[in-house]
Formats: sequence, C-alpha cells, structure tokens
Amino acid sequence: MEEIKFLEGKRLTVVGYGSQGHAHALNLHDLGMDVTVGLRQGSKSWEKAENDGVKVAVVGEAVKGADVVMILAPDEAQPELYRSEIEENLKSGAYLGFAHGFNIHYERITPREDVNVFMVAPKGPGHMVREIFEGGHGVPCLAAVHNDISEDTRDIAHAWANGVGRRVGVIETTFKEETETDLFGEQAVLCGGVTELMQAGFDTLVEAGYNPEVAYFECVHEMKLIIDMVYEKGFAAMRDSISNTAEYGDYITGKKIITKESKEAMKGVLKDIQRGKFAKEFIEETENGYKFMNKERAEYSDSKIEEVGSKMRKMVFSK
Ligand code: NDP
Ligand code: MG
Ligand code: MG
Repeated sequence: MEEIKFLEGKRLTVVGYGSQGHAHALNLHDLGMDVTVGLRQGSKSWEKAENDGVKVAVVGEAVKGADVVMILAPDEAQPELYRSEIEENLKSGAYLGFAHGFNIHYERITPREDVNVFMVAPKGPGHMVREIFEGGHGVPCLAAVHNDISEDTRDIAHAWANGVGRRVGVIETTFKEETETDLFGEQAVLCGGVTELMQAGFDTLVEAGYNPEVAYFECVHEMKLIIDMVYEKGFAAMRDSISNTAEYGDYITGKKIITKESKEAMKGVLKDIQRGKFAKEFIEETENGYKFMNKERAEYSDSKIEEVGSKMRKMVFSK
C-alpha cells in the first residue's frame, strides 16, 4: 500500500495496549506490518494482546532494536516509563512517536537527541479508531514532527497516520497546537461541556417533575442521533432534517444557554491550558493517587442519570 510503504520492512513497537494502543497495533498488524506490543511484566493487557494475535514483549525488550516506537501508555505514566524502560533501549536513529503532545510540550519528557520524534494523534477515541477501521473506513489523524535527524520523519508520521486511520486524511500540526487544542476540546466541548449540558438538561426536567425516562431520551439518548447528522452532513443538513419547530427553537434558545459568559469561561479554560496551569494540576492529581477523580467517578456512577440510562440502554439495545 503506497501510503504506508515507509513502514514496510521496519520493526514497529507499540507501548501499551489500552484504548489507543490496541487500535494502532491491530490496524497496522492487519495491514501486514511487523508489530510488537510492549507491556510491563504481569500486565493485565498481555493476554488480550496475545489473543488478538500480536507479538508481546516487556517494554525494554520490545523497544530494543525497534525502528519505530509509539508510546501509548497513559500520559501520566509516560515520563517514568520513558526514563526506566525506553530511553536506554532506543536505538540511535529510531523514531519515537506519541499520540498526544502533552509530555513533549510541557517538557515532561526530553527525548535523546539522536532519535526522531513525531506525533500521530487520531481524532477519535481508540475503540472507535479500531471499530471504524474494521468497518473499512478511518478516523482522520493529526501529524507533527518535533525532531527530525533522519530527514524523513514526516514520511514516517504520515505513513503511521495513514495506516492507523486508513488513509482518510492527515492534518499537519505542531506539538503545541495539538496539545492545547486537544485539551481545550475535550474539556470545554466534547467531554466536559457535553456531559454537563446533558446533565443540566436532564436535571431541569426531572426537578420540574417530568418522567426521568422521558428526560433521559430527550437530553441524552437523542444527542447521538443529532450529532451523527452533524458528523456526516454538517449543521445545515441536521437543521434541515429536524422540524421547523425544532429549528426555530435551536436559533432562539441556543444562545440563551451558551452565553457570552460561557464564551468567557472557555477563554479562561484555554488560558489555563496555555500557561500550563491545567497540566500542573493534573500531574498533582495523579501524584495524589487520583483522589479527586475517584470521588467524581463514584458520585457519577451512583447518579440518577446513570441509573435511568442503564435501564434505557437495556431497552434500546436488547433486541
Ligand atoms: P490507556 O489508559 O488506555 O492505556 C492503558 C495501557 O497502557 C494498558 O495496556 C496498560 O497496561 C498500559 N500501561 C499503563 N501504565 C503503564 C506503565 N506504567 N507501563 C507500561 N504500560 C502501562 O491509554 P490511552 O489509550 O487512553 O492513551 C494513550 C495515549 O494516547 C495518551 O498519550 C493519550 O493522550 C493519547 N490519546 C488517547 C485517546 C483515547 O482515545 N483514549 C485519543 C487520542 C490520543 P496494563 O494492563 O499493564 O495496565
Ligand atoms: Mg486528549
Ligand atoms: Mg423533539
């Protein structure tokens, strides 16, 4: 395959076999590439990777002799993993890859000067990167080069992106741009923004005495159906498909909910990302044993919206 020929004949190592790791490893493996997965001894992921048909070795062994090493362990685990298992085993002139710019941009990892450094960041959750690939399509990827001693790192990055994302498109970026926009998108819009929007809508209806099951369908379940139309055809086509009543309500009410203050809050979020405040706080949280995150996880998993959602999903998906 033309687009990934720069990876042919090379030894590729994917470190980690979680959300992104399994998708990168399996997509490239399916395209006939020589892929080894690097995991720690006793890793929960080991058996899963072996059952999926990829070679597995401990991280240090998998990195030794590899031409391309893609680090797909969690961001917060990468600095220690790089120092203890990767740095000394990377061969000179190897290509070191990331799927998010966090550790390079915030200088938590400073790679050896004799290795090339690149990024391929699929713009989708890892499980979708795999599922969409299996369906014969792909997720677009961002690609960036941070260090290019071999003068062909861009070819490697594009080949990796074209393999993992099945040639649907590669967008050039920088580690700085990817890191700041990725963090902003997931916090303000995709994850933080959307879940709080759905939650607030659900709570408003339930507190006003409406049936929680009806509230769930209106404020959570239908979100996907609307977003799928935006994803496939854009805002105008989505608005064309909904009723005129819904479209009129969209125009007059959207701006009452996402106000000038919301936009100001977004600017504040972006500023905190740009000046490293968010990164610093996240690192402190990981060093603190994820206390805050565990509390939030427990609260959300006990919430009304999850209780109703699990019932509704059984009803929708059991047929
Ligand atoms: P995951 O949390 O899914 O990674 C888990 C995997 O990493 C498991 O195989 C786990 O193995 C392994 N692992 C965990 N800790 C260590 C360690 N200390 N040493 C070795 N292996 C370890 O990660 P994600 O896929 O979410 O993220 C990977 C990278 O991709 C990050 O840089 C992230 O920002 C980026 N990214 C993620 C996206 C996503 O969809 N999640 C989207 C785009 C980019 P074990 O079984 O041993 O625990
Ligand atoms: Mg992210
Ligand atoms: Mg309706």
